[in-house]
Amino acid sequence: SVVVVGSVNLDAITVCERFPQPGETVTGVSVAFGQGGKGANQARSAARSGAATVFVGAVGEDDAAGTVLDSLASAGVDVSRVARTPGSTGFANVTVDGSGENHIVVVPGANAAVRVDDAARAAIADADVLLLQLEIPLPAVVDAARAAREAGTVVLLNPSPVQPLPDELVELLDGVIVNRDEEKALAEVVGRVPHVVTTLGGDGARATGPDGTVDAPGFAVDVVDTTGAGDAFAGALAAHWDLPPAERLRRANAAGALTATAAGAAAAPTADEVNAFLAN
Ligand code: ADP
Repeated sequence: SVVVVGSVNLDAITVCERFPQPGETVTGVSVAFGQGGKGANQARSAARSGAATVFVGAVGEDDAAGTVLDSLASAGVDVSRVARTPGSTGFANVTVDGSGENHIVVVPGANAAVRVDDAARAAIADADVLLLQLEIPLPAVVDAARAAREAGTVVLLNPSPVQPLPDELVELLDGVIVNRDEEKALAEVVGRVPHVVTTLGGDGARATGPDGTVDAPGFAVDVVDTTGAGDAFAGALAAHWDLPPAERLRRANAAGALTATAAGAAAAPTADEVNAFLAN
């Protein structure tokens, strides 16, 4: 089973032919709401990959809270450990123009209040794998990692958005999941973590661990939107951490590739969809 301690947002995506100038109003073409936040996206992918998955995070006291929690629950994620805090649920306001360029405003809201309490610690201790990102306060990330280490739960970190990592956190990590940019920015840290999984976009992924290096080629798909592919990959990887490295990477690559074939960040495939894709 997997525990994700991380962020959850309501995403609002509006499409307009051209961006408004300051003080100007333009008429848009479409609007859609979706669930975002790296924590929630990765939890959704882990659950859809077939792992019993608990999400630990925080939402506000607003209508958005119910929307994002219903969305996670319908993907099979256990949301009973999500805290309600005063103020707003995390929110991302995305505007896309006719050329595909975007403007994004992210309001962290409740994500800035995520804490690891006793209930969260118990969930972490019960799980096989803890999956972390960096969209919540660093002290919560460190507390979660420490609770996992004490209980023998595997600690995986997707260090995104990339930032310097304190030594006390690095020492608690069993593995990192990095894209090429994150690997470069954290080269010194990456060299000290037992398992390093590097995602290579359309080229797939590479895993380096105590037993050597495994390269898993990417899958050729008709790409619609790669947003969320990295999150789908991370969630699937955590869900399949018990499989041999080559098979773990193959399934995570398939989840990433399938996510890139659909619009939106929350498009992670189910285990059945991945099985059908791999059988072809
Ligand atoms: P990020 O989006 O976090 O920068 P990547 O671009 O490396 O991460 O993508 C994460 C994973 O998603 C890749 O390892 C791969 O499995 C899958 N993926 C991403 N882009 C493509 C693509 N164009 N074709 C096939 N798979 C892709």
